[in-house]
Amino acid sequence: MSMQSDRPISELFAEKGTLRSLEFFPPKNESGVEALRQTAAALQRIGPDFVSMTYGAGGSTKERTAEMSSLLRDEFGFTVMPHLTAVNHTRAEVAAVAEAHYARGIRNIMALRGDLPDGLPTAMGFRDGLRFGSDVVALLKELHPDLCLGVAGYPETHPEAPSPEADLVNLRRKVDAGASFITTQLFFDNEAYYRFVDRCRAAGITVPIVPGIMPVLSLRQITRITGMCGASLPNRLIKRIEAAGDQPEIIEAVGIEWALTQIRDLLDYGAPGYHLYILNRARSALALAAGLAA
Ligand SMILES: Cc1cc2nc3c(=O)[nH]c(=O)nc-3n(C[C@H](O)[C@H](O)[C@H](O)COP(=O)(O)OP(=O)(O)OC[C@H]3O[C@@H](n4cnc5c(N)ncnc54)[C@H](O)[C@@H]3O)c2cc1C
Repeated sequence: MSMQSDRPISELFAEKGTLRSLEFFPPKNESGVEALRQTAAALQRIGPDFVSMTYGAGGSTKERTAEMSSLLRDEFGFTVMPHLTAVNHTRAEVAAVAEAHYARGIRNIMALRGDLPDGLPTAMGFRDGLRFGSDVVALLKELHPDLCLGVAGYPETHPEAPSPEADLVNLRRKVDAGASFITTQLFFDNEAYYRFVDRCRAAGITVPIVPGIMPVLSLRQITRITGMCGASLPNRLIKRIEAAGDQPEIIEAVGIEWALTQIRDLLDYGAPGYHLYILNRARSALALAAGLAA
C-alpha cells in the first residue's frame, strides 16, 4: 500500500494545462473486479493523469468504492479520485468516508450531492444540513483544507434546476465553497459545452471546466442515460447508430468516431483536457488515445 500522498489535481492542471481522466464504477462481484483489473492493466499504457471511481448514492458502494480506489492506486499506480455523494448520509458518515481516503494518501475527491433513492422523501434523504453539493464541498474543506475537490457541472442544466441561470448560481456556490475544478455531465453536442463555458466565465467561475465524454455503445443504453440526465442526443448521431443496425462492433465504431470528433474539436477550442465515461471498458479509451496521438 502506497503511503505517499497524491498530488492535488489542481496542481496537475497548473502544470500541464490539459488532463486526461477516466471514470470507473465499482464492480458488484469478484468477476467484475477481475475485469476491472484487466481494464486497468490495458489502460496503463495510455497513462491517464487520473482516474475516478463512482459512489452509489445513498452509500450502497461505500466499501466497494474505497476498495476499488485503493486497488487502482496501489496495484496500478494511478492517481485516484473517489466520488462521494452525501444523500442519505449524516455529516459524520461523509466525514468518516473522506477521512479513510485521506489516511490512505488520497487527496482528490469528487464532491456530490447525489440523487434520492426512489421513494425516499427529501427530509429523510438529505440529513444534517447536507442538502446540496456546496454543503458537501464546505464540509470536506473544513475537514482537510488541502483536499482538492471536483464538482459536477451541467452544460444542458441539471434536471431539477428551475432555470439555467439558477443552476449556474448554484454551481458558483460550489466553487466559492472551495471546489478546484468542474467535470461536466456527458454531452454529445459541443455547442452545449461552449455556451456553458461562456456562461460560467460570465458568472465569475474561473476554475477548469473539464468536458465529460461518453463513447456510445448502444442506442438503448444511450437513450436511457440521456433520458435520466437531460443531455440531448443529436439526430445525426441517432441516424448513424440506427444505420449500424444490431451490430455492436459497428455501433462501437460509430461511438468512437463521434467521441473522437468531439474531443479534437474541444482540444482545438482550448478545453482543459477531457474526462471519459468508459464504463469499465478499455477498448474505446485505447482507440481514442490512438486516434488522438497524432
Ligand atoms: C461528473 C459527475 C460525476 C457524478 N458521479 C456520481 C456518483 O459517483 N454517484 C452518484 O450517485 N451520482 C453521480 N453523479 C450524478 C449526481 O449525483 C446527480 O446529477 C445529482 O442529481 C446532483 O448532484 P450535484 O452534486 O451536482 O448536486 P448539486 O450541485 O447540489 O445540484 C443539484 C440541484 O440542486 C440545485 N441547487 C444547488 N444548490 C442549491 C441551493 N443552494 N439552493 C437551491 N437549489 C440548489 C442545483 O441547481 C441542481 O438543480 C455525477 C454527475 C456528474 C456530472
